[in-house]
Amino acid sequence: MKCFLLIFLLISAFGELSGRSVHRAKKRQVDECEALNATPEECSAYWAGEKPPLLVVSLDGFRPDYLQRNVTVNGVEEPAALLLNRLSRCGVFSPTGMTPVFPSLTFPNHYSIVTGLYPESHGIVANSFYDPDLNASFSLSSPQQTNPTWWIGDPLWYNVKRQGKISATCFWPGSDQTDPVRAPNYWLQYDDTVTYSERMRLVFDWLILPVSQRPNFVTVYLDEPDHTGHGESPDSPLVADQVRIVDQELQALFDNMEQVGILGCVDVIVLADHGMAPSPPGEKFLIMNDYVPNILNDARIYDGVFSTIRPKLDTEEEHDRIAGGLQCQDDNMRVYNKWDFPRRHHYANTNRIPNILVDMTVSWRAYAKSEWILRGNHGWDNLNNEMQAMFVAHGPSFKKNLQVRPFHNIDLYNLMCAMMEVDPSPNNGTWGALHHMLVSPPADPSPEPLTPISKLPFPADEATYNEHLMRKTCSLLTGSNTQSIDSTLNLTESATNAALQMHTPWGTPQTKDTTQIKTVISTDYVTAFDVVSGLPSWTSFTINQPRLTTAQPQWRLDVRLEETHASICDRFPDGIDSTWSVVPLFPFDTPSNSADVAVDTNAIEISKPFETYWNEFHAMLNRSVETNGETNVIVGPVRDSPSPGLFFVVSTCRSNGVALADCPVDQLDMQSFIMPTNVRYSRDCIKFTAFFNAHLASLPDVEHLTGIRFFPALPYGDKADILSRTPLASTLLVNPDPSTL
Ligand SMILES: [Zn+2]
Repeated sequence: MKCFLLIFLLISAFGELSGRSVHRAKKRQVDECEALNATPEECSAYWAGEKPPLLVVSLDGFRPDYLQRNVTVNGVEEPAALLLNRLSRCGVFSPTGMTPVFPSLTFPNHYSIVTGLYPESHGIVANSFYDPDLNASFSLSSPQQTNPTWWIGDPLWYNVKRQGKISATCFWPGSDQTDPVRAPNYWLQYDDTVTYSERMRLVFDWLILPVSQRPNFVTVYLDEPDHTGHGESPDSPLVADQVRIVDQELQALFDNMEQVGILGCVDVIVLADHGMAPSPPGEKFLIMNDYVPNILNDARIYDGVFSTIRPKLDTEEEHDRIAGGLQCQDDNMRVYNKWDFPRRHHYANTNRIPNILVDMTVSWRAYAKSEWILRGNHGWDNLNNEMQAMFVAHGPSFKKNLQVRPFHNIDLYNLMCAMMEVDPSPNNGTWGALHHMLVSPPADPSPEPLTPISKLPFPADEATYNEHLMRKTCSLLTGSNTQSIDSTLNLTESATNAALQMHTPWGTPQTKDTTQIKTVISTDYVTAFDVVSGLPSWTSFTINQPRLTTAQPQWRLDVRLEETHASICDRFPDGIDSTWSVVPLFPFDTPSNSADVAVDTNAIEISKPFETYWNEFHAMLNRSVETNGETNVIVGPVRDSPSPGLFFVVSTCRSNGVALADCPVDQLDMQSFIMPTNVRYSRDCIKFTAFFNAHLASLPDVEHLTGIRFFPALPYGDKADILSRTPLASTLLVNPDPSTL
C-alpha cells in the first residue's frame, strides 16, 4: 500500500478552491442538475490550464435496469441508486446500456474498454484460458495474471503516461501487471480487502493533488453488484442493496468533491463491464459428456455459459468427431468451428482461442461433466438484453440531459483519448463514433477524397465484342452469348447515370484498390468487379417492391470484361464439385431484362446447404420491402479467413416518400450481416432466425473485413453516426436480441 502513503504525503493546499460549497447547497434545491455543474470560471483555478481530469468508475456487472431497482428505507420505497439516476438525468445516459465485447466477461471487457481492442487482439480472450504457444494457462486467481506477456496492446493509462500526462488506477484488470514501462504512474496491486470507502478516498486524494502531480486519468473498480448477482441471481432484492451501497460510495466521493469546490470540474464516467442473467440451478443446462463420452479426457475444456474445446489430438478428424457429437443435440446449444463463429464477435484470430466454440441461449449452460451452481451469470452473446452494461457520464466535457443509443464499449477508448487530447494507439474502434456525447468535440478529420471507379463500357464495335468473347470459359457457363441478348447491357450515358443514382444512392462504395476494380453497370444493379482475381467486390441494387428470385441462371460471359480479365472460370477452371452452387448476387427476375442477371460478373459460389438460408434471406428481404418500401442492398464476398462468407448491407429510409439519397441520417435504418456460406458444423439444424440473428454485424465489422467504405458521399459526422451503431440499433429484417428468438 505504498501508494496510499505517497498520496497522503502529497496532499497540499487547495483551500482557495473550497469557497463554493455553501452557495451551491442552496442551488441544489433549485435544480438537481444545476447543483452538479460548475462554470469554467469556477473550475479554472483547479484545472490550471489543463483539460478536466477524467475519472472512470467501473461497477462490475451493473445491468442498466438496476437503475430502476428500489430499496425500502424506514418503511418507504425509494430508488436504490439515487446519485446514478440523477447523473443519468443530468448527463449523458444510454437507457439500454453499452454493448460489451464477446465473451461478456469481466477481464476481456475491462481490457477492451481501456485498449479499444477486441479480445482476439488484446489477448485476454476469457477470464481463464490456455495459450498453446506459451504452454501456460491464464486465470484470475493465478499469479500468472500479472505477467505482462498475456496483455497485448496499449492500455489508456500507458498512452497517457507516455504522452507526458499522469495516470492512476485504483484497480482495473491489466493495471497491476508487473511491467514498469506500461504501468500507470500511480497504481496498486488488486486487493479485495481494500474497502470501497478506502478506494473512493484514494481517488479523491488523487483528484486534489497539486496540478503537477494530479492524474489526468483515474480509474476505480468495485466488484459489486456482480458478486451478489452471481450468488443470488439478478432478480434478487439483495442486488438492490448492493446497488444502494455502490451508489452511496460514489455519493461520498461527490460530497468530498463538493466540499473542496471541484464538483462539476471533473469528467466522470460510471460504467459496467457486462450485465447478468439468471442461471437457475438444476435447470437449463446440458452435459457435454452425455453426447461425447470421455470428452474431458480427450479435450481441454473451459465450460459453462460459453464453452471452448481444444481436442488433445490436433487432427481434423478428432475436431469433427467431438464437434460432430455435440452439434444438433439441442436447440439451445450451437457448435461452431471458430472461423464460422459470428464475425461480429471478432473471436478467432489467435491461438488462445481453440477451434471448437459452443454458443448457448441466454440462461443456458453446457458443462463438461457436472453443473457448476451460480444463480446468476454472464458471458453469453453480447446482443442479449441481459448482457448490456450500464453507462452514465457527467462532467464539464459531456453534454447535459442527453440520451444516447447503445454503443460498443470498444469505442470508449477513442472518446477518452479525444477528451484528454491523447493520441490513441491503433485500435478496433471508430474515431468520432462517440463525439456526439461531447460539448466541444475535436474537429472532424477531412474526409478521404472519393476515388471514382472506372467503368467497363459495352464493346464499342463488333470486332471488340468478338474479342471479348475470346475470354476464358468453363463448364460453369452453360448459357451462350448472342448480340441481341447482350445488347441490353449497352446503356446510354443517361441510363448509366440513372442506374448509378438509383443503385448507389450514397456514392459508389470505395475499395482500397481502384486499379483492378471496375464497375459494370446494368439497369437493375451495379457491380464492382476485380478483373485480376475474377471476384466481384460488391453488387449494389435498390428495389421498390418485392421481386421473384430468378431461377438457376444459364451463366454466360459478361461481354464488358476484356479478353485478359479474370472471372469465375479462372477461379474454377475445372468447374465446381457438387457440394457447391453458383448463385447470382443480384438475384431477382427483373422487369428490365432477366438475362442481365446471368452474366458471370454476377456469379458467386455458396455451399449447397447454404442455399436454403440464401433463399430465406431473400424471402425476408421481400417481406421487408413490402413493409418499408424503397430498399438498397449491397452484397459481396468476404474472403479474409479460412471460412468464406457473404456480407449484406440493407438500408431503407424511415421517412416515407423520401428518396434514399436524401434520407436524413437519423431516419436511415440499416442492418448488416456477415454470413458464412460453408459452415462446418450444425449445417442442417440451425433455425433461420437463429442463423440470421447470429450473423448480424455492425457496419465497421463489414468495412474492416472487406476494406470497402460504404456511404462515401455522407459527411463525416453522418458516417460516424452510422459506424457508431451496434446491431441493436435496427430491427429492419431481424430482431437483434437473441433472447427474443
Ligand atoms: Zn464483471
